[in-house]
Amino acid sequence: MIVLHQFQQEAVAEIERHIAERRRRLLLVAPTGSGKTVIASELIRRWVAQYRRVLFLAHRREIIMQTSAKLVANGVRHGIVMANVDPRPMELVQVASIDTLHVRGVRSDAMDLPPADLVIFDEAHRARGRTREHLIGLYPNAVLLGMTATPCRGDGRGLGNLFDVMVEAPQIAELIVGGFLVKSRVYAPIDPDLKGIKVQQGDYVISQLAGRMNTERLVGDLVEHWHKHGENRRTIVFAVDVAHSVAIRNQFLGAGVPAEHLDGETPIPERATILARLAGGKIKVVSNCMVLTEGWDCPPVGCCILGRPTKQMGLFRQMVGRALRPADGKSDCVILDHSGAVFRHGLPEDHVEWTLDVDKRAATPAHEKRKASKGPTLHECPSCKTVIIKPPCYHCGWEPKPRARDVEFEDGQLGLVVGGKSRTEHLAQHEQLRFYRELRGFAHERGMKDGWAFHKCKEKGFTPPWAWKDYPLLEPSPGNAGVGQIENHRLCQTQTARGGMTTQDHELIEAWRAVANAKLTEFRRQCWRLALLVRQGFVDKTAAVDRLYEIAIAHALVRALGEDRVEAIIAEAFASANFREVA
Ligand SMILES: [Zn+2]
Repeated sequence: MIVLHQFQQEAVAEIERHIAERRRRLLLVAPTGSGKTVIASELIRRWVAQYRRVLFLAHRREIIMQTSAKLVANGVRHGIVMANVDPRPMELVQVASIDTLHVRGVRSDAMDLPPADLVIFDEAHRARGRTREHLIGLYPNAVLLGMTATPCRGDGRGLGNLFDVMVEAPQIAELIVGGFLVKSRVYAPIDPDLKGIKVQQGDYVISQLAGRMNTERLVGDLVEHWHKHGENRRTIVFAVDVAHSVAIRNQFLGAGVPAEHLDGETPIPERATILARLAGGKIKVVSNCMVLTEGWDCPPVGCCILGRPTKQMGLFRQMVGRALRPADGKSDCVILDHSGAVFRHGLPEDHVEWTLDVDKRAATPAHEKRKASKGPTLHECPSCKTVIIKPPCYHCGWEPKPRARDVEFEDGQLGLVVGGKSRTEHLAQHEQLRFYRELRGFAHERGMKDGWAFHKCKEKGFTPPWAWKDYPLLEPSPGNAGVGQIENHRLCQTQTARGGMTTQDHELIEAWRAVANAKLTEFRRQCWRLALLVRQGFVDKTAAVDRLYEIAIAHALVRALGEDRVEAIIAEAFASANFREVA
């Protein structure tokens, strides 16, 4: 028997209470990951124990099989009405494919419609043509229970014309706290210009949207940002239309990333194969056009790329919901928003006030406040580019200009301190991974063995899993204290006495800040080394500050002058400072 979590039990109890109070049309609102089918199967178990009959309706084979499996686990005998499955019409519970049941029971006499006291159906937010409505209409005396993660119509309005009462399971933020979902980390490098695109039935007209989104530059950006922030995770991409999805797949393939494309025409066995290969890591990226928005599950997917702008909050939540499932070695999910969705709809963790009212729209009060600038607005962390509400950045710890006097220099952690990063211990898993990859990158650069990186991690208090060896090496960042320690060791035998902060220290920090956010990693690394050398007393501070400013200015000129020219400037700036020889 399935043991229910507290909130699932509460949902079942609330549903039963409403039924006892003679409410006939109920809507269960439960995010992906909260176990809708578990809640339903428990309810079914209770009904059958009282010899009442239940009909469970679904469009998708996956949902039917999932529900059937949950019922088996709950010891509930049931029949399945679906192509290629032997019927068991004598059972009190029938789990039915809507199409099959309609064909067999309504359009022909192949079977009698199974009697039911309770009719449960999934994806209740979708107006799925007349088939389901017609079927439900044939059960005027049954209690109806619709289930959905996003109880609103395409235009955001409530479903009060279909349901009397809503039963809400905990929302995403609460499920994250309970460990049922992982938190998200959003990057929103592109907020596309959608001005002038027509809107029909509550969302952008696809053909126009495709024209705007399917450009070489935007598709190229998508792959580039995946390389930057995607951490080589298994990834699902939501594209505007088939051509867009194919273009994205091709772009990934062109970059040497194993990728596949799915659309409505992909045969089901092939779809299953592709998803299995994604789950197994044989392919990294699956680009799709509206087939993987719901009723589909692949917990190892740790990254979700939104390439399809939508005005529908429900659709946005369905898309990101795909990546929030926990899995082994997955502590969060990365969302690369190229569609402007988070600026429009808020963060996945934002609380939503759903409504049944057909004249009202679901609201995310926190986000509305942000948009009306009564609260903190969403913006990019200047250091790691994560979308944050307000500093400090929950991902990298960046804070705007902490007062220099509050900052203390620690051995080998200069970059860490001046970068404004405060967290050194208790690294989150993605931070551990980054730390490990940077150490390996450093070890590789210096011709040291991999084992060194491993031991550094142990010193830091965690054991890197074996599988992390498969991740590409990273260039060490200023914040990597492990690298700093070894660098210290190599660079100096003597330690200058530590005194209080001088004006030069402040200047150095200011200058560092100016370049710390530079995109060219090399800038940052050089600056970091320079700063370290200054601290060790090998380089004159005034000269270093001058150089750092020079670099900062040069970086600001990247766009105007081009990278080559800027690199020449940097080369010049560092020509007289040969760091390797200092040691
Ligand atoms: Zn950050």
